Amino acid sequence: MEIKAIGCEPLQLKRMHVKDGHTLKVYQKTGGYESLKKALKMSPADIIEEVKKSSLRGRGGAGFPTGMKWSFVPKDSPKPKYVVCNADESEPGSFKDRYLMERDPHAVIEGMIIAGHALGSQTGYIYTRGEYKYLIDIMDVAIAEARDAGILGKNIFGSGVDFELHTHTGAGAYICGEETALLSSLEGYRGHPRMKPPFPAIEGLYACPTIVNNVETFTSVPQIIEMGGETWRNLGTEKSGGTKLWSISGHVKRPGVYELPMGYADMEKFIFEDCGGMLRDDKKLKAVIPGGSSVYIMNAGQILGKNVILDYEGLVAAGSMLGTGGMMVMDETVDIMESTKNLTEFYKHESCGWCTPCREGTDWLVKIFNRISEGGGRPEDAKLMLDICDNIEGKSFCPLGDAAAWPIQSAIKQFPEDFEKWLFDKTGSNGVTANV
Ligand code: SF4
Repeated sequence: MEIKAIGCEPLQLKRMHVKDGHTLKVYQKTGGYESLKKALKMSPADIIEEVKKSSLRGRGGAGFPTGMKWSFVPKDSPKPKYVVCNADESEPGSFKDRYLMERDPHAVIEGMIIAGHALGSQTGYIYTRGEYKYLIDIMDVAIAEARDAGILGKNIFGSGVDFELHTHTGAGAYICGEETALLSSLEGYRGHPRMKPPFPAIEGLYACPTIVNNVETFTSVPQIIEMGGETWRNLGTEKSGGTKLWSISGHVKRPGVYELPMGYADMEKFIFEDCGGMLRDDKKLKAVIPGGSSVYIMNAGQILGKNVILDYEGLVAAGSMLGTGGMMVMDETVDIMESTKNLTEFYKHESCGWCTPCREGTDWLVKIFNRISEGGGRPEDAKLMLDICDNIEGKSFCPLGDAAAWPIQSAIKQFPEDFEKWLFDKTGSNGVTANV
């Protein structure tokens, strides 16, 4: 398992290999909380301006500009304001945030306090899924350390600014990674998504103005304050500033967490040089899901020799999306019908059941996948699945519906032969025979 920066100085990964980097002592020794001291002397408007200049885009998957999101919080609201860290990291293929919390928890805390000062908030929450309980234990120790040192609580560093931080675990539902479902869960309700608008910046936690950002988004903030928004943006590209963490898994020799500058060229080089190439030398690249399971799958022809740039715009141009940066690499032994079936079972299981297209649609899709893999596939099944996906995509209450449809739509488009083999020959592309 590799944890390293390529093509840039490690910023997000700065303390990954530093002994006791998770402790307050080592954090401060390595420059930690200096950005907070600087930010406390800045006006909230100036902090937001620096974040805007940085072109930081939310690292949880949606890629919404962070500075713009922060500027939506009403300054004159009489209600309390909240800062929430979305540390749910439930997207299949994504495992970067866990390392930030495990090895650099004070960077998360520092980013959240700066956000609190910028937004006029005095309370923050870190929300993780139940499986990350061990990380909450680490975060709780770091929070206690910071509180004891006067970095959290009243009058931080004698600035007159107050900010308190709490942790909370959910029960492991994927949907609680969606920001409004997370807020419902944080309030103690079942994790159902809420109607937007109103957006959380206006009416979020306890119907008060709330900013929800991903772990990596918060850990970027001290860097931006330290070096200035423009300098940080120039590490990446005009529209996708800074550096980005990628979790890479699957059939590569060196899976792990990599920090790359935004705009890194290119995906083929990243897979074949930086990550050591295919796990088994005699196997060819077949497919890549570049941004966590909720994005379009790509075939080798979309990648090899195509100079796919690793940033938001580059991946859209190449026919997929950056998402969370959870890159899953598959070699030619993978049957894409089966891998897509596996993902669809996940989405069906995680559908919260609130709206009909997603609840019923994912269930029907799994039934069709099961029928196909049991040898009962019909020639028209691929078209039938696309029709069902069409009735889920854009017609569901929250993004999970689209996330369930996109892998199937793109898999049938990019790997039609894997589906046809099952539908006509009753066998998989890797030689698996249907259980007829
Ligand atoms: Fe729930 Fe799925 Fe509807 Fe989202 S799209 S509200 S997860 S049923």
